[in-house]
Amino acid sequence: MDIIFDSGARRSFDLVIGTDGLHSHTRRLAFGPEEKPPYDAFRSPEARRELVASRLPERSRHVPRPVAAMREADDLFFDVVSQIHLPTGSSGRVALAGDAVHATSFLSGQGSSVSLVGAYVLAGEPAARADHTEAFAAYERLMRDFVETNQALATTGGTFVTPTTHEALDARNAARRTPPRSPGARAAPPTPVW
Ligand SMILES: Cc1cc2nc3c(=O)[nH]c(=O)nc-3n(C[C@H](O)[C@H](O)[C@H](O)COP(=O)(O)OP(=O)(O)OC[C@H]3O[C@@H](n4cnc5c(N)ncnc54)[C@H](O)[C@@H]3O)c2cc1C
Repeated sequence: MDIIFDSGARRSFDLVIGTDGLHSHTRRLAFGPEEKPPYDAFRSPEARRELVASRLPERSRHVPRPVAAMREADDLFFDVVSQIHLPTGSSGRVALAGDAVHATSFLSGQGSSVSLVGAYVLAGEPAARADHTEAFAAYERLMRDFVETNQALATTGGTFVTPTTHEALDARNAARRTPPRSPGARAAPPTPVW
């Protein structure tokens, strides 16, 4: 594949592997543009700040300081919670790994694990197969169940990560304080109560 970098430099490669995250530019080039979220808040930085501020209780004593800091920050991270579902992780000689193809969203967790496992499988397959077509097909086959199982966790994970009632918040905090069962594993640090 003939690649032209932003700098203007040109190189040729047998395969291109995109690991450039949730909003992957490589994915856009190989598979087309991603769906834009249908929210006004993505119009401008000011609209984003207003949305975040409007969702927090004004009268809480904890809220005004972080909201004021957010309004002044010039590096506010704001994104929609997304998963990536593609019918296949490769197109021709281009393959994707990590969030670029298997994003699970932070509601399920596991994104780093899925990314690392995917990269490991993808790195191993070309050496074990006759050509890249077989290698990418095997990568797809080996990853599919694992990815879908982890992406499905987001359905139940949502209420655990962002509880919407006091009862759910207490249950989440209690679960976080419970030490892991595996011997030798370190206990999770206590979850701060807001
Ligand atoms: C708020 C939040 C909480 C999370 N919590 C967890 C958690 O508890 N557990 C968990 O396992 N996962 C969690 N995740 C998910 C986890 O962060 C991702 O699944 C993981 O980082 C994906 O790794 P990646 O290497 O595919 O992508 P990324 O970590 O996004 O890395 C992509 C890299 O590509 C670079 N890049 C992008 N475009 C270009 C370009 N054009 N040229 C060059 N470089 C480029 C980016 O700068 C970035 O360094 C969370 C994510 C978020 C947003």
